[in-house]
Amino acid sequence: MAQLTESVADLIEQLAKLPGVGRKSAERMAYHVLRVHKSEALALADAIRNVRENVRYCSVCFNLAESDLCTVCTDARRDGSVLCVVEQPRDVMALEQAGVFRGLYHVLLGRIAPLDGIGPDQLTIDQLVERVRQGEIREVVMATNPTVEGDGTALHISNLLSELPVEITRLARGITTGSILEYTNKEILADALSGRQKF
Ligand SMILES: [Zn+2]
Repeated sequence: MAQLTESVADLIEQLAKLPGVGRKSAERMAYHVLRVHKSEALALADAIRNVRENVRYCSVCFNLAESDLCTVCTDARRDGSVLCVVEQPRDVMALEQAGVFRGLYHVLLGRIAPLDGIGPDQLTIDQLVERVRQGEIREVVMATNPTVEGDGTALHISNLLSELPVEITRLARGITTGSILEYTNKEILADALSGRQKF
């Protein structure tokens, strides 16, 4: 390690914290950053800075947004009577790419995971119930991941909503149990949405 300058060592250490990046890959990336044109390297630094300074959660649905509301919530053509509940903003992206859902979303920002110490209070479940309580939503589509925790989260929410005049559905099980929404291909996601069933 004696031959690394402090800055290079620091960059490698930061890169190695990224998911799926081991020490060797981090070293390769660091040397790549040193090799490319300075403007290219600084564009990466700017992109990281911009995303952290400009991107926040939509104040209504908790999708990623660059102003108070996300692009889905500001789109007047969306059907405000159907709400799709997902775990993460990247699930919104996957469903949007499937291109069949025309309603609005609610992003939980996680799932109930007792073993990891994540309870309902740490998610946006209260805000979801409040949205449904306002009465414009007639269907809530549960699109949490088909994992034990995702299913448990959907069940918890459907119990909370059971008193309200809203239909609760879930994605059809074309999605293999245990698979993660964001990795499911578009066609299967589209089928799962159009074939959704009563919860
Ligand atoms: Zn939104």
